[in-house]
Amino acid sequence: MTDPEPLVRIEGLTKHFGETVALDDLTLDIARGEFVTFLGPSGCGKSTTLRILGGFERPTRGRVILDGADVTNQPPEKRQVNMVFQDYALFPHMTVAQNVSFGLELKGMGKAEIKRRSDEILSFLELESYGSRYPIQLSGGQRQRVALARALAPDPALLLLDEPLGALDAKLRGQVQQELKSIQRRTHKTFFFVTHDQEEALTMSDRIVVLNHGRVEQDGTPEELYFRPASRFVAEFIGETNLLSGRVRGKEDDKIVMDWHGQTLRGLAPQGSPDQGEPITASVRLEKLQFHSERPEMPNAVRGRVVGKTFLGSRMAMEIAVDDVEDAMLRAYVDAETGARVGSDPVWIGWDVDSMAMLTD
Ligand code: ATP
Repeated sequence: MTDPEPLVRIEGLTKHFGETVALDDLTLDIARGEFVTFLGPSGCGKSTTLRILGGFERPTRGRVILDGADVTNQPPEKRQVNMVFQDYALFPHMTVAQNVSFGLELKGMGKAEIKRRSDEILSFLELESYGSRYPIQLSGGQRQRVALARALAPDPALLLLDEPLGALDAKLRGQVQQELKSIQRRTHKTFFFVTHDQEEALTMSDRIVVLNHGRVEQDGTPEELYFRPASRFVAEFIGETNLLSGRVRGKEDDKIVMDWHGQTLRGLAPQGSPDQGEPITASVRLEKLQFHSERPEMPNAVRGRVVGKTFLGSRMAMEIAVDDVEDAMLRAYVDAETGARVGSDPVWIGWDVDSMAMLTD
């Protein structure tokens, strides 16, 4: 990031728990108003980062700079940071309005000001008619919104969200994702969101940081991560993909020519391009493969046979056995109603150079 004044600056953050290295020299900036998601498998260090940002955990090494000040050793209550927990952590014996006012009282705000601020945030989140209800009288989605209202009420500079949608069923989750994103846009707040759900991360984030074993695997926009995965880990963790392993045959400008079981394929070169003869893996998303009845005028084209298909509602997943390449299967998504037939007729599969990301490992 080149933001001259990021809201958060994470510098060389390292956290050891005994022998376990939870975070390994993490350095990155978070811009003001950004919706940044930390994404990765269980144990990769997402929550540890979030807890260090919140002041609930001290790093072994490294610093956290918030709004220009070093807050690494500052306790949570001194920071301009608030948090939404997965279980919402609403006080069951308090009404919605009392839950929302609680943090404002802790800040020593006057009664009239608390009422004004609490009413404002409840109305902003369309909760004004729920003020006198208790959490048990609310749906899961409403509770989630109250938790968000409570966290936003003291006007924190940074909001930390630790898998806050984990308790919602799939349908409601989709709705709340949209809602949360819209609230973030309207408040211009900086959201630091943690999830292991790649779909959720793609839907909501301005930027995704993929963590693996306490290190940044890739940092970019959802589109960059999806279409230009830098590593095999990212290509497999985000979405579904075809991984083609072969050898580098040569380079052409910003492209790499690879040999894949005797087929010549071209894709976008990764950073620090490998040399001729070195092994390389390419990633092609399923929806980027196109079906043709004859060899297409495309930089990448292979012939094969459809050996299986699965109806998925909006689309069909096709399995293609590539001719003359033992055990080489490609998977493709096609329109659910126009999919090719399973059978012995040959089909041509083509894809563009920029649909194929060459991976670094
Ligand atoms: P999850 O999605 O399962 O919550 P995560 O990516 O948030 O995973 P962390 O909770 O940050 O992962 O944990 C990173 C590593 O540090 C894991 O190996 C975990 O077991 C370890 N760890 C985290 N907290 C502690 C602790 N208090 N004591 C010992 N080990 C810990």
